[in-house]
Amino acid sequence: MKREALSRRDFLSGGKRSEAACIRPPGIVEDALAACTGCDQCVEHCPASIISLADGLPALDFTLGECTFCGACAEHCPEPVFTTGHIHRFDHIVSFAATCLSFQRVDCQACRDVCPTAAIRFRPVRGGPFVPDLIASACTGCGACISVCPVGAVAAVPLNAEAIHA
Ligand code: SF4
Ligand code: SF4
Ligand code: SF4
Repeated sequence: MKREALSRRDFLSGGKRSEAACIRPPGIVEDALAACTGCDQCVEHCPASIISLADGLPALDFTLGECTFCGACAEHCPEPVFTTGHIHRFDHIVSFAATCLSFQRVDCQACRDVCPTAAIRFRPVRGGPFVPDLIASACTGCGACISVCPVGAVAAVPLNAEAIHA
């Protein structure tokens, strides 16, 4: 079963998604993508249904759900595409945009509630609701917070980039 390519292509950078900005299933390095035949096996076997083929190569869409690092995509790939072994974190974390409801003085803590590693805490702000703050060292980049945010205010950013706390 093929799914459409990433439905919100700009979640990584806030702008139009470039090819380099694609987030691959865990265990893939870009150099190994040359071995991908586009067979769809990773797409078929992802229990979270977050993998699609974008330009014939696997890419993740965290607006559809989170990666649990289950390893099913790597397990079912018949080609030498997943070369890093079973990993449990991505090389990105997340940041929160100014459109976050909390920054708009609307109480929301949905992202914190779903984070499997308790990487999101809320800090008080004078005269308003608490706002999200990321504990970067605890974030695996799983995308759970991205999928639940009602206003699309959570984005993935490279691990070495400074998380934005607007
Ligand atoms: S590790 Fe599991 S949940 Fe994550 S992309 Fe692969 S199959 Fe999907
Ligand atoms: S789920 Fe979205 S809107 Fe709600 S607090 Fe988190 S970032 Fe803000
Ligand atoms: S991406 Fe990071 S902050 Fe968001 S739910 Fe996953 S571990 Fe938590």
